[in-house]
Amino acid sequence: MSKCDSCASKGKCSNKESTCSVLVPSYGSIKNIIGVMSGKGGVGKSTVTGILATKLRSLGYKVGVLDGDITGPSMPRFFGINEERAQILPGKSQEEAKFIPVETATGIKVISLNLLTEEEEQPVIWRGPILTGVMTQMYRDTEWGDLDYLLIDMPPGTGDLTLTVMQSIPLTGIIVAATPQDMVTMIVKKVVIMAQKMNIKVYGVVENMSYIRCSCCGEKQRVFSKKSAEEQAGNLGVPLIAELPINLDLVEKMESREVEDFINASPEYDELLGSFMRLS
Ligand code: ADP
Repeated sequence: MSKCDSCASKGKCSNKESTCSVLVPSYGSIKNIIGVMSGKGGVGKSTVTGILATKLRSLGYKVGVLDGDITGPSMPRFFGINEERAQILPGKSQEEAKFIPVETATGIKVISLNLLTEEEEQPVIWRGPILTGVMTQMYRDTEWGDLDYLLIDMPPGTGDLTLTVMQSIPLTGIIVAATPQDMVTMIVKKVVIMAQKMNIKVYGVVENMSYIRCSCCGEKQRVFSKKSAEEQAGNLGVPLIAELPINLDLVEKMESREVEDFINASPEYDELLGSFMRLS
């Protein structure tokens, strides 16, 4: 099998196999690789990744999640993976290892640095090149099998690690996660411009923590900005994929194996899946 056969960019790039620098998974093939990016941390990038992965899985797709937020990995916790650890087995050569991802309640394959280290509280105190190596190794050496979608919770911001991921992993496209306050700032615009400069498709922006739903009348109440999410996305020049509410029930279900059932039973997240499918 040639390197191109298992590459998500097959048929879409002009590189020759001999000059190509993108990585190809050693243990499986991946049809679509979606990066979820944000201008900074704490805006809900991991939450958006987890919700979209769950919804895609609910349609029967084979889905994986790569936790690329190396210094603040949170995908295992999102899915309530607390005790399990990924297995590390001998790889194709003596120096290489193969990682067996942990599966969530509905069968999403997750790999994260937190699943490869003994204790999740241990901080990562490595410099850039090592972080980059770990990130690319988790992508290349995990036994993904055949996936329809790999979602990557990207490192926050537009720094070195993000750049390396974008250069070495053949992203099909990216989704930008932002809060209403961020939507007007240049940090989100930077993410969009970075992807565009690298010829990576920007599906659009998900406005997280957009509103709360009134517990009395069910009305949507915007909390952080009076401007509509459409208007804000329009200013960024990208489509609005969805608005997500602040949802304390979701927070309560996160870190438990019930989070996927909760997401699938909640109509608040249908728009995210519907728009993503339409735009992709
Ligand atoms: P990031 O990946 O951008 O760092 P996270 O997805 O980890 O951000 O979210 C940061 C914090 O905000 C987490 O504690 C998460 O539970 C909370 N959070 C994110 N989105 C929502 C939401 N829509 N409703 C309530 N809490 C949220």
